Amino acid sequence: MEILHISAECYPIAKAGGLGDVVGALPKYQNSMGHNASVVMPMYHTKFLFNNDWDVVFKGNSRLGPRAFDYTIIKERHNKLGYNLYLVDIYGLLDREKIYGYGDDVERFVAFQIAVCHWLANSPDKPEIVHCHDHQAGLVPFMMKHCYDFNWSLSTLKTVITIHNAQYQGWIGWDRSYFIPLWDSWKFGLLDWKNNINSLASGIKCADRVTTVSASYLDELRQSANGLESLFEYERGKSVGILNGIDTEVWNPDTDTYITGQFSVENVQEGKAANKQVLCEQFNLDPAKPLIVFIGRLVGEKAAEMLPDSIISAIYGFQKGVCFLILGSGEPDIEHRLNNLTAQFPGNYNAVIGYNEKLSHQMYAGADFLLMPSRVEPCGLNQMYAMRYGTVPMVRLTGGLKDTVIDMGDQGGYGITFVHPSIGDIVHSVSRAVEVYEDQETMNAMRNRMMQIDNSWDNSARRYIEVYQSL
Ligand code: ADP
Repeated sequence: MEILHISAECYPIAKAGGLGDVVGALPKYQNSMGHNASVVMPMYHTKFLFNNDWDVVFKGNSRLGPRAFDYTIIKERHNKLGYNLYLVDIYGLLDREKIYGYGDDVERFVAFQIAVCHWLANSPDKPEIVHCHDHQAGLVPFMMKHCYDFNWSLSTLKTVITIHNAQYQGWIGWDRSYFIPLWDSWKFGLLDWKNNINSLASGIKCADRVTTVSASYLDELRQSANGLESLFEYERGKSVGILNGIDTEVWNPDTDTYITGQFSVENVQEGKAANKQVLCEQFNLDPAKPLIVFIGRLVGEKAAEMLPDSIISAIYGFQKGVCFLILGSGEPDIEHRLNNLTAQFPGNYNAVIGYNEKLSHQMYAGADFLLMPSRVEPCGLNQMYAMRYGTVPMVRLTGGLKDTVIDMGDQGGYGITFVHPSIGDIVHSVSRAVEVYEDQETMNAMRNRMMQIDNSWDNSARRYIEVYQSL
């Protein structure tokens, strides 16, 4: 099948979270199954752009309301990533260093979607499946079916939207509806949700199929979806949850060049000890104590505001018998509080505020435990990376965490799970971690068990193909 993924992120070009990991890996696995999957994303000013060779494949122009713009589609020349990668260059809008966070993000991503539709409508080769990811591509199904500039050419193509995170929905006030190229005004209801244009809601209404990145997350969205609950309930017939996989080539402790000493399930004990030693030296932590890490966005969804108080309680509560290392960025207040703890607990605590891909690999490899107290976790990749690197996940039972981690107290278990995103539950899970850390036999048994779990994309990629075939 011919598949085109449309996304704002794709690893290794530009990644802010799990969306980038998924879009960077899924097409590669689909191609290995004999399909032809490609990715189109905005052309940001990233290292990948400057370090690779590109061919211009299309030049066009369109309008964003009163503003006419030219765009260029370029394609990576050597198929380095295992799939065709197309970038959309719109001078002055997309060519920035960061992915998100600009005052004109609405204009940027609407223009991106217009350019993609315009290119597809005017190009002779069309995919059979247009696979949109999150709200930055959420208006595409509507545009393909109901905008007069595109529907003459695109209305019969099949569309799928995958929801990686329903918290962010791409709201656009109706006063800016003129951004969307001339459309059939009878279809007003397909753009509207609670008196705003809602890109994600529109994608859910207009796409032929809807997928979420885990089955439990789809169930939860019917109860809690930042205002879209009834829509998820209404569209349940065309919705399905498919758990993300992990890219086992990028995330492989046996070949990972970011980490200090490679290891596999055969020498996991020594391998992890070597990585822990280096990590602890770098961050002034005691390698004899259990090391618990947190990697992720410092926002309420991840329950990150509970980390400072939980860490203080745990370090005092366990007489400084436990160490923490944090890597993340997000809300300034949480960043500030986490940074300040370093001076309070030298030898037991450290934090790196920022985004650091290499350090994240070193932390998965060197840590004993990975903490994820998330309030919302659509799938969660960190726990799967941790498991592949022999690091015990400590997770709150929600979304994909519920679907991937079995508590060590249950048959065949290998993780520490808890129910509430509360300081009490977090500290209790730390007490279980400290206790099991003393029992190296159980630790090793858990490491062996989880490192052998197959969380690769093979299964999930096949399930996406089944969804496409059903169309
Ligand atoms: P989300 O997409 O909600 O942020 P996921 O668990 O799906 O969460 O994916 C998070 C991805 O982003 C993982 O690959 C994780 O290692 C990475 N990540 C998050 N924050 C950082 C950071 N500060 N530095 C490096 N990698 C990070």
